[in-house]
Amino acid sequence: MKTHIKNRSLNEITEYALAKGQPAFRAKQLFEWIWKKQAESFGEMTNLPLSFREALEADFWVNTLETADEQVSADGTRKFVFALADGQKIESVLIPSDGRITACISTQVGCALGCRFCATGSMGFVRDMDFTEIHDQIIRLMKLSAARYQTTLDNIVVMGMGEPLLNFDNTITALDRISDKTTLNFSPQRITISTAGIVPAIIRMADKNLPYHLAISLHSANEAKRKQMMPVAQKYPLPMLTDALKHYHAKTGNRITIEYILFGGLNDAPEDAAALAQFCRSFPVKINLIQYNATSLGTFGSSTAADSKKFVQFLENKNIIVNLRKSKGADILAACGQLVKNSNLKPDIS
Ligand code: SF4
Repeated sequence: MKTHIKNRSLNEITEYALAKGQPAFRAKQLFEWIWKKQAESFGEMTNLPLSFREALEADFWVNTLETADEQVSADGTRKFVFALADGQKIESVLIPSDGRITACISTQVGCALGCRFCATGSMGFVRDMDFTEIHDQIIRLMKLSAARYQTTLDNIVVMGMGEPLLNFDNTITALDRISDKTTLNFSPQRITISTAGIVPAIIRMADKNLPYHLAISLHSANEAKRKQMMPVAQKYPLPMLTDALKHYHAKTGNRITIEYILFGGLNDAPEDAAALAQFCRSFPVKINLIQYNATSLGTFGSSTAADSKKFVQFLENKNIIVNLRKSKGADILAACGQLVKNSNLKPDIS
């Protein structure tokens, strides 16, 4: 039965090469193709003998993702549906902005956290992606960035389907392989891991002093409202989250990004801005406010331009760094909270 070559160490591949009558240096060449040259098939590995490539093809996969669908937004955002080896599907997004390409990647099939504004949450949890699938996804998106936008990938945000910190080891292993100096040397400063607030894993990130940026999907600094929008807040309420973020900042010195989708009449009033400013007093932050597209996802409404502006001004008057962004790719259900395993499936938000 075929297995994934990315699960094999250099020693194991060397043993395999020797068993196939190849010199040991073939294993090093193969390793370079896999980890450095972004190969997605053995056929591309043209400096390996054909007989060795055929043997590898019979025994291993090098990338298990099938691109099942691709949609393009009017704003240039592209959403991809990838089928995994067991037929499960995940979605990933390439977002062009200011001459840069950002990939939004998935780490789980579905999600257990059930945030009430999120289509993925409405699917429930299916399974974790393993590190090879996450790595395969990033390599595919790097190639798609070059093919569709004629430029290299600039940033990776781990904000697609799933809660990455509930699939900690697979996510970090994949990111470490991408950013390792001996492989693709992708700067960890250009990678952001976004969490709904899994407190023990934030502490773990801090204690491991991981080099990636941390973003918190907060969406409300009012405890009751946050619990209403994000059931995970029942388990990890705001005081616990605050303590974890203080610890994270003390250990890493990093600024924390706060993601906050503005929902009209729910979390966009002056008192919500005041609660947010209060929450942000304990550590340095940058706040990304995201304007919600009410036409695409049912029950939650958009914040008006006037209310959004007042919200921004309140925070700026407190000398907090704030960016107000439009959610991109909404017309193809590629925007924040819209990823769902079947791109034809309309999100079911209750
Ligand atoms: S917003 Fe993120 S954490 Fe919440 S349900 Fe959706 S995928 Fe899961």
